[in-house]
Amino acid sequence: MAEETIFSKIIRHEIPSDIRYQDDDVTVFADISPKAKVHLLIVPNKVIPSVNEIEDGDAALIGKMILTAKKIAKEMGFAENGYRLIINCGKDGGQEVPHLHLHLLGGEKLRIIGAGF
Ligand code: AMP
Repeated sequence: MAEETIFSKIIRHEIPSDIRYQDDDVTVFADISPKAKVHLLIVPNKVIPSVNEIEDGDAALIGKMILTAKKIAKEMGFAENGYRLIINCGKDGGQEVPHLHLHLLGGEKLRIIGAGF
């Protein structure tokens, strides 16, 4: 069983957070240190530490994370203009919290980061 992080406490409503959506599979909350006008984290309720620990049986859950991001972007009215989805993995990828999460950044024109990626 993977170790829990602060995200599990957020998912269980044990610490304050700005939860925007929750169901049996995923929880969506505002990033505490937003890097864009809209910066939400889409998090599976079960602990998967990183992309490296995703298993074949998680395929539907991972798909749901992306579909949830799409739905929220549409509901918030910026889907047509576009947005950015990011998953950092591990030390070199800049992952700080070892509980898989999809960053949804949008609501404004985003800067191009890195070498045009
Ligand atoms: P990453 O670097 O991909 O692991 O991203 C972790 C993200 O979690 C960062 O953008 C942090 O700002 C965010 N974060 C850390 N603690 C909290 C918290 N308690 N509530 C909301 N977002 C958080």
